[in-house]
Amino acid sequence: MTDRWHVEVDRGVCIGSGMCAAAAPDGFRLDAARQSHPLHAEQDAAESLLAAAEGCPVEAIAITVLESGEAVFPPEE
Ligand code: SF4
Repeated sequence: MTDRWHVEVDRGVCIGSGMCAAAAPDGFRLDAARQSHPLHAEQDAAESLLAAAEGCPVEAIAITVLESGEAVFPPEE
């Protein structure tokens, strides 16, 4: 079974680069103010989502495993 992830964007940190929406068009959308939003707070685990979180220049994207709350990104130290 595919893990379900909880995806969150810290809009106080997001600088609207649009890189997440480019990396994962099914995962993120920019609003009129160029702030990123996850299309759904809960999404199937996907490489593209992880790539988007890793590629965010200001680390505004946080992903956790829905069921366990375990950090996917940023990884726990
Ligand atoms: S990559 Fe990061 S800074 Fe750029 S739009 Fe997405 S969340 Fe915002």
